[in-house]
Amino acid sequence: MTTKKIVVIGAGFGGLSAAALLAKDGHQVTVLEKHNMVGGRARVWQERGFSFDMGPSWYMMPEIYERYFSLFGKKPSDYYSLKRLSPSYRAYFGESDKVDMPSDVEETYKLFESIETGAGEKLREYLAQAEYQYEVSMKEFIYKDFNSIFDFFTKRMITEGRKLHVFEKLSSFTKRYFKNERLRKLLEYSMVFLGGAPDNTPALYSVINHADLNLGVWYPQGGFGAVASAFQKLAEEQGVKFEFEQTVTGFEYEKNQIRKVKTSSGDFEADLVVANADYHFVDQTLLEKQYRDYSPRWWNKRVVAPSAFIVYVGVNKKLSGLLHHTLFLDKDWTEHFNTIFNKPAWPDQPSFYLCTPSQTDDSVAPEGSENLFFLAPIASGLDDTPEVHERLKNNLYDRLEKITGQKFKENIVVERVFSLKDFSGDYNAFRGTGLGLAHTLWQTAYFRPRMRSKKLSNLYYVGHHTQPGVGVPMVVISGQIVSEKIGKEQNG
Ligand SMILES: Cc1cc2nc3c(=O)[nH]c(=O)nc-3n(C[C@H](O)[C@H](O)[C@H](O)COP(=O)(O)OP(=O)(O)OC[C@H]3O[C@@H](n4cnc5c(N)ncnc54)[C@H](O)[C@@H]3O)c2cc1C
Repeated sequence: MTTKKIVVIGAGFGGLSAAALLAKDGHQVTVLEKHNMVGGRARVWQERGFSFDMGPSWYMMPEIYERYFSLFGKKPSDYYSLKRLSPSYRAYFGESDKVDMPSDVEETYKLFESIETGAGEKLREYLAQAEYQYEVSMKEFIYKDFNSIFDFFTKRMITEGRKLHVFEKLSSFTKRYFKNERLRKLLEYSMVFLGGAPDNTPALYSVINHADLNLGVWYPQGGFGAVASAFQKLAEEQGVKFEFEQTVTGFEYEKNQIRKVKTSSGDFEADLVVANADYHFVDQTLLEKQYRDYSPRWWNKRVVAPSAFIVYVGVNKKLSGLLHHTLFLDKDWTEHFNTIFNKPAWPDQPSFYLCTPSQTDDSVAPEGSENLFFLAPIASGLDDTPEVHERLKNNLYDRLEKITGQKFKENIVVERVFSLKDFSGDYNAFRGTGLGLAHTLWQTAYFRPRMRSKKLSNLYYVGHHTQPGVGVPMVVISGQIVSEKIGKEQNG
């Protein structure tokens, strides 16, 4: 293949994954990133001895990372070490009312049985189904480039669509197995990882329960920042050049091709461009009007995944009652999901997630301190004000204090809120979304925004808006799909 000058816009996991593979294929690859480090939504913020992963904290589906590194004859363990968390996480349903999810699935069956008679056996059946869906998805959907609707509605899909539960909502699927609301919550909370709700996500996505309960929840030592650095190192080993603090502002075109990528400080010549920056922003802002693939109306009809209200907190004492991952499911979550998807509004009493990586890793907080990451999913597109931040932050702090029976507010030494405006400002995110597009049926596989521009023959897209979707493992796969696609389509 002829060597091309390829410019990748953005050093999120999508850009990193594609860049290393394209350089391995012999291309001259330059990554332009507006921030001063790699990772994108998985950036790291360091303050007074605390090191906060700004986005992802659940390392799941380790085999996908293994598969990616193996393309270079490497293993993740050549770059970072992993620890399986045990228990995987804790869920609070009220004061001193908690469930610890075991890392051993046989123990999980027992736990379910102890909450609802017969639920142990039901979970075994449910997970067998989820595993089947996972295996089929890996073969049929996840690693696939969808060029036409017939790539999606294949013979297998048509004959097995019902068996794969593509057309059923997750909420009705779990209801058929379990009466107990807590058990359903434990299986359904992970839909938030996919940017959806149990009521709008196809039951096919119970694959994530297989990932969680069978394949396990892992922690990369040093946090997700260490994983992003590993991807950068791997890319540099293939010859990729990184240019930081380069904000892309537009393009120069010639005969339906991009010829130059313009940044705040200069121009970069390009035979081919891979855009990892948020799709909506590239399509609607960076590209001139005649080169846009989608209309504002099309974008406005998308089901945008939630944003997140996040608080990074450093506390100068150790806290009790917390595991590495702790879920607070003590309030009415239908109400909360309604505020995210049906009637967008700031929630009064959201379910929330608290990550305490200092429970596992001494390097992320000073000795005797705790590193806390609070996250409440919220609707994208809301008005973001300091008043609402203050109210929500205090709600989360008060519930943590009440539920775990301890005070910590007076021990806060570092605090930073990150919310809608930050997602828009830092990542050019459409309506401040944290995750891109939700995984509704009509935004799955073939129905996700396309990976190659229809109007510009040398512009490709990678990352969470594209196939297969949301979450670091999926985004890494999108890099694999796009680099293969470029290999096939641009040969010569
Ligand atoms: C709060 C939160 C928690 C999450 N938790 C998890 C989790 O636990 N596990 C998991 O697997 N996934 C999780 N995710 C999802 C995961 O982080 C994302 O799916 C993934 O990181 C997205 O990668 P990306 O490459 O598509 O986009 P991004 O990471 O957003 O990368 C895009 C890059 O483009 C850059 N860019 C944008 N505009 C420009 C421009 N004009 N010029 C130059 N560069 C530009 C941005 O700075 C950024 O670096 C979480 C996400 C969030 C927000």
